[in-house]
Amino acid sequence: MTLSDDIVYLKGVGPAKAKVLAAELDIHTCGQLLDYYPFRYIDRSVMATVASLSEESGYVVLRGSVSNMQTTSTGPHRERLTVDFSDSTGSIQLVWFAGTKWVREKLKPNVQYLIMGKPTLFNGQWQITHPELESAPAETPHTAPLQTNFLPVYNTTDRMKQHGLGTRAMARLTETLCNALGNVPETLPPDILEQFHLTSRRQALIAIHYPQNQQELDAARTRLKFEELFFMQLDYQYAHSSRQHHSSGRIFSSVGDHFNRFYNEKIPFPLTDAQKRVIKEIREDMRSGHQMNRLLQGDVGSGKTLVALMCMLLALDNGCQACLMAPTEILATQHYYTFLRMLDGLDITVELLIGSLRPAEKKSIKQRIASGKSQLVIGTHALIEDDVQFHQLGFVVIDEQHRFGVEQRARLWAKSTPPPHVLVMTATPIPRTLAMTVYGDLDCSVIDQLPPGRHPVRTFHRTENRRPLVFSFLKKQIDAGRQIYFVYPLIHDNPKLDLRDLIDGLEMVQSYFPRPQYQVSMLHGQLRADEKAFEMDRFKQGKTHIMVATTVIEVGVDVPNATVMVIENAERFGLAQLHQLRGRVGRGAEQSYCILMTKDNLSGTSRERIRTMCSTTDGFQIAEADLRLRGPGDMQGLQQSGLLDLKLASIIDDEPLVAATRNLIHDLLNSDPTLSRYPLLRQHLDNSKNKLLWGKIS
Ligand code: ADP
Ligand code: MG
Repeated sequence: MTLSDDIVYLKGVGPAKAKVLAAELDIHTCGQLLDYYPFRYIDRSVMATVASLSEESGYVVLRGSVSNMQTTSTGPHRERLTVDFSDSTGSIQLVWFAGTKWVREKLKPNVQYLIMGKPTLFNGQWQITHPELESAPAETPHTAPLQTNFLPVYNTTDRMKQHGLGTRAMARLTETLCNALGNVPETLPPDILEQFHLTSRRQALIAIHYPQNQQELDAARTRLKFEELFFMQLDYQYAHSSRQHHSSGRIFSSVGDHFNRFYNEKIPFPLTDAQKRVIKEIREDMRSGHQMNRLLQGDVGSGKTLVALMCMLLALDNGCQACLMAPTEILATQHYYTFLRMLDGLDITVELLIGSLRPAEKKSIKQRIASGKSQLVIGTHALIEDDVQFHQLGFVVIDEQHRFGVEQRARLWAKSTPPPHVLVMTATPIPRTLAMTVYGDLDCSVIDQLPPGRHPVRTFHRTENRRPLVFSFLKKQIDAGRQIYFVYPLIHDNPKLDLRDLIDGLEMVQSYFPRPQYQVSMLHGQLRADEKAFEMDRFKQGKTHIMVATTVIEVGVDVPNATVMVIENAERFGLAQLHQLRGRVGRGAEQSYCILMTKDNLSGTSRERIRTMCSTTDGFQIAEADLRLRGPGDMQGLQQSGLLDLKLASIIDDEPLVAATRNLIHDLLNSDPTLSRYPLLRQHLDNSKNKLLWGKIS
C-alpha cells in the first residue's frame, strides 16, 4: 500500500471504522494513519505480575487467563461486567461498563490473554477498568518485519473505543499497514540525510510504530523531529528571504517636523538606550526599499507604545497615514487619549475608530480616513472592515499581537499598495529560541530595558486564611492614597456564572471596604462600551479606590497610581496572563505589589507557576518557564494560528536540533536562494505557496 491510499481499503478498516477515524482524528489516508504516532510504548519483555502491582505501577501489561464472568444490571440498557483475571501470582478484577456484550462473546476460559491498563485499588482489591486485551502471542507471534517487544499505545477517544478502535485495535491497523507498506517517497534531500545520519522516511515511519529496540526508536524520532523542524523553518525563512529579495516597500527617507518637534518638545524624559536602538532598527527598515515586517518585543511598561508613536510620526513626515490596531475598545480609547495628550499642539489629526461609535460618527470618520485628512488612526477590529479605505496607509502598528487572528492581520495588510510597513508589538515575550523559529520570517527587535526609576513589583502568594492580613495591608495602601485592583478569573463557560463570581467578589470587597469611605468600581466583559469607559474613567481619575474586574483589564490599562494587584484564584491563570496582570501595577514611582490569592492545595504545575511569579519579574524568564510547564505545542495563540505545528519536536528539549536545522536552512538559502539545486525542497515550497504565512500577513 502507499501513503496516499484511502484508509478504507486497509484490511480491518472498512466504511464504518473509516468514518470514525475521519471524524475523530481527521485520518483519511494510510499516510495520515502512520502520522498518528503512539504516545508511548509498552515493553512486552518486562511483563508485570499481579503480585508485583503497586500504587506506582501505572500502565501495566499482565499475562494470564479469565474466569468467573459476571454481569450485573445497573439500569435500563446498562450493565456492568466483571471478570476475574489470574496469573500464577494472584488475581485481579477486570471491569467493563460499556461494550459488555462484545467482551462477553469474545472472552474464553483457558486462553492466555495479554491485558493492558492502569490498575486501581478498590475495596482492597486491584481492578482494571476497560483494559486493553488481546490473545497472548504464541511462540512466534508476529510476521516479519515487526517482531518486537515494543507495543505502541495510541490515544483514542470514547467514540473510537465504542467502534472497536481502542489502542490495541489501532496497533493492529498500523501493524497491518507497516507490513504492507510499499514505497514511501523521501522528503529530505539525500545529502542532508547523509550529513545528519538520518534514517529514511519509510524506515522512520515504520519504526516510530514498531521499533525493534530503543536505538531504532530514537533514530526514528530524530528523523521525524528533524523533518518537522526543517520544513517549518524552511517555510518561514524562505518567506523572509524572498521578501527581502522581492517585496518592495515605501521608502521613508526623511525625518521631518512631526518627528523632530515631538522628540525635542514633547518627551519629558530621555529615551532608554534600548528604545533608541529599536527606533534605529525600524528606521533602517523603512529606508531599505523593502516592506518591513517587524516584531517588537518588550516587557510591559518598557516603552513600546512611545516607540510606536515615534515611528508613526516618521510615516507622517513622509506623506503617509499611520494606524494602530488594539485588541479592545478600552485599550484603543486609552491609546487615543494618550496620543492626543502627547501630540497636543503639534497640529496632527488623530482619529479613533471603534465599533461602538454611532453609525453617523463612524461614517464621517471613515470619510476623513479615506480623504487623508486623518493622519493617525487608532482603532480596534473596526479598522479592518472592508469599507475602511485609507488615502495612503504607510505604517501599521498592531498592539498585543496574540489577540488578533491571522486573517484579520491579512486584511489590514491589504489596505494599501505598496503594502504598509508593519510593526507587531507584543508584551508577552517569547523565548529567543522560539522567536527565531516561529517568527523566522519576521525581523525582531527587543526593548530589554525598563525606564529608570522603576521598582520591580513585589509579589506574594497568600492563601485564604491570611485574607484578613492582606486586607489590612490594602487598607494601609488606600489610606496612603494608592489604588487597588482585584481580578477574578473567568471560570465558567457561562458568562452569567462568571459574573456571579465577580459580584460575590465585589460584595466581599465592599464588606471590608464600606461606603462611603471607600469607593469601588467594577468592570467586566458584559458591560456596554460606554459603561466600561465610565468605570475605567472613575478609577483613572482616582474617584474610586478599588477596581474589581475580570481579565478585561489584562492588557495595557495604565493607571500609575494603582499599586496593588490582587489576583483571586490565581492558580487558575496561566503564567503569561499573570504576568500581564501584574504589569498593570508598578507603572508609577511608588513601590507596587502583586498578591496571588489561591486555595491551599495546589497541583504541581500551579504551584510551579505561582513560584515562578514570586521569584521573577523578567518577562523572558517567565516565558521560558511557561513554555517548559505547558509545552510549546500548547502555547496560546501559536497553536491555534498554526504557527507551531509540531507533533514530536519540542522547541525547548530539542534545542540542538532546532539550531542545527535553522543554521542548515540559513546556509542553503544563502548559497542557493531559489533552492534550484534541491528539487524536493523546491517542490515543498511550491506546494505550500498557498498556505498563509506569518510574514506575509502580519
Ligand atoms: P509599553 O507599551 O511597553 O507597556 P508604554 O509605552 O506604555 O510601555 O510606557 C509605559 C510608561 O512609561 C508610559 O507612562 C510612558 O510614558 C513611560 N515611558 C516610556 N518611555 C520612557 C522613558 N524612556 N523614560 C521614562 N518613562 C518612559
Ligand atoms: Mg502597552
